[in-house]
Amino acid sequence: MKTAVIGAGAMGSLIGAHLADGGNEVTLVDVWKEHVDEINEKGLRIEKGSEEKTVCLKAVNDSSVLGPQDLVIIFVKSYHTENAVKSAANLFTEDTVVLTLQNGLGNAEMISRAAGNVEIVAGTTSHGATVLGPGFIRHAGAGETIIGKFDGENTPRVEEVSSEFNRCGLETKISDNIAGLVWGKLLVNVGINPLTAICGVYNGELNEFESTQKLMEMAVGEAEKVAAAKGIELPYTDALEKVKGVARATGPNRSSMLQDVERGRRTEIDYINGAIAAEGNKLGVDTPANQVITLLIKALEEKKEKEKNVKSSS
Ligand code: NAD
Repeated sequence: MKTAVIGAGAMGSLIGAHLADGGNEVTLVDVWKEHVDEINEKGLRIEKGSEEKTVCLKAVNDSSVLGPQDLVIIFVKSYHTENAVKSAANLFTEDTVVLTLQNGLGNAEMISRAAGNVEIVAGTTSHGATVLGPGFIRHAGAGETIIGKFDGENTPRVEEVSSEFNRCGLETKISDNIAGLVWGKLLVNVGINPLTAICGVYNGELNEFESTQKLMEMAVGEAEKVAAAKGIELPYTDALEKVKGVARATGPNRSSMLQDVERGRRTEIDYINGAIAAEGNKLGVDTPANQVITLLIKALEEKKEKEKNVKSSS
């Protein structure tokens, strides 16, 4: 399958490398020049536990050098989705499948607006990865990937993508309730990511403190009401128990939002708790906790930005 991955950071590199290892013609597309150069010169290094391997694959900074693709996987952060897809217009024909496994709400909709007449497949993945440096990532955890058509019934092309992923060692299933799955993961992110980032704690610690448990209950409770008002069928019955269970199972992890805040990088808060507040507003569901949590993360982002500016001007 001729495949381009737009946004070849932690997850894009990981999934792209699996598909390339399985014999697909894969090109990673990323605006990060040092990363692209390193991959082209030395291959992509992947650390997993105490093991390390190198996968050879092609990478480019600008997708305009590529032709139409069978599969385009979008793995930029949600705030880059629209621009990244617009700048990759030459990769799409009406036979192209565009896949998003990004976190947050609205990615498939943004892709649909920006890419035009393509088949959009969305989903969730339980794989976890981190960038360690240019051309070097850590595969932090493996898990199931679930995909399905974003709008409408699943087609043979969804089957093709799923079977190619499975053949390449990425355990993948098909669902006919993709909106439910995306919202299901969204609620987990709503309850874990910003609270770990604001409080500076590991995922598992959220279940230890009375205050963080209360905050989680408020944020997830509101998100559950918004999902119900939107007619979303969540893939579990007790949202709070689900989120607590994920926090327990990933106890020693430092969430990506905590890492982003600490490193002074923009977070995906607008597409997680911010999206719950925005949807709640449209549907007449009150979301005070999600509004406050969103503002607190933005305050942390602004503080880091100010610190960076002070440092660079001194
Ligand atoms: P990342 O920051 O490691 O990678 C994003 C990459 O996109 C960066 O390398 C950046 O240079 C690149 N980029 C930005 N704008 C671009 C553009 N216009 N064209 C091409 N490349 C561009 O992010 P990540 O951790 O891989 O996460 C990507 C998405 O996957 C997010 O939505 C995240 O929430 C989700 N996700 C992450 C994980 C994880 O474990 N890291 C797991 C599941 C889902």
